Amino acid sequence: MIYTVCGKINKSDMGPTLSHEHFKWESNEEFSLRMYFERKYNEQEIESDFERLVPVIKELYKLSCRTIVEASPPIGGQNLKLLKRLSEETKVNIVPCTGWNVNKSVYKLFPNKFREQLAKRWVSDFNEGLDVLEGTIIRPGYIKLLLDRGKISEVDIEMIKAAIIASKETGMPIHCHILEAEMVYSVIELLEGENADFSKFLWAHADKEKDLETIKYAASKGMWIGIDTIHYGEYKEYIELLKNIINSGIKDKLLLSQDYDFIEEMDRTGNIKSCISFFDEFIPYCLNEGFDVKTISDIIVSNPAEYYNIP
Ligand SMILES: [Zn+2]
Repeated sequence: MIYTVCGKINKSDMGPTLSHEHFKWESNEEFSLRMYFERKYNEQEIESDFERLVPVIKELYKLSCRTIVEASPPIGGQNLKLLKRLSEETKVNIVPCTGWNVNKSVYKLFPNKFREQLAKRWVSDFNEGLDVLEGTIIRPGYIKLLLDRGKISEVDIEMIKAAIIASKETGMPIHCHILEAEMVYSVIELLEGENADFSKFLWAHADKEKDLETIKYAASKGMWIGIDTIHYGEYKEYIELLKNIINSGIKDKLLLSQDYDFIEEMDRTGNIKSCISFFDEFIPYCLNEGFDVKTISDIIVSNPAEYYNIP
């Protein structure tokens, strides 16, 4: 099953999917965490964000998009009330998450049982729901983590281990933002040490460095590969990367998306063009470049349905 803000759906109903987008990243952590821990929302802001986001999502629906995975973790301001209203209004499924929900320096104060406590909370987010809105228990569809750059930090190691515990217990996949290919080797070692299921682990932003050797190595372990920052106007280099990945026989491990912050992007450009460009421009570009319809459909329909499925 796929867990959306309007309840669970069959994986066969997921349809063409953007596997990693943000409607609005919230930099005010205090405000974000009040939504997560106390379920306190700012109704006025929801209203104005709703008005701005509906046209984009409706346009995406017209272009055949049926599901959007909203990748903002609790600390990034995931707003369930807004997400649910948007999904009801546009009929696009929206998949929320749990995961990064605490300032990482808290680990320095409470290193003991940090991992167990985090895992416990994420399991309870799944079992009890992140929130209950108009009678709908909203469960997270995955666990979102963001690893810092450089050598993998102690707190990030603990967060990954917590995610593995929670994933084993609930079936939620782990969606992990890793910007540097070099770090992937440490993560693989860690996952092996914990006997983790690689088919539940996504390397988000594998396209940042476009390091084909590391991508092939990660996929050979069973890890999912996020080619998820496909931005308007940068298609040429993505096509090259995708062709190389597909020729390496790892098409079945790919997840695609744009990773836009929709509100920020609309503020920057003054229109919705880039936010809808994956379906409006990129897919036609791929077809023009010789990709066949079945390959594209396997990647944007079958793959997310496989990765996000919670049995
Ligand atoms: Zn993102």
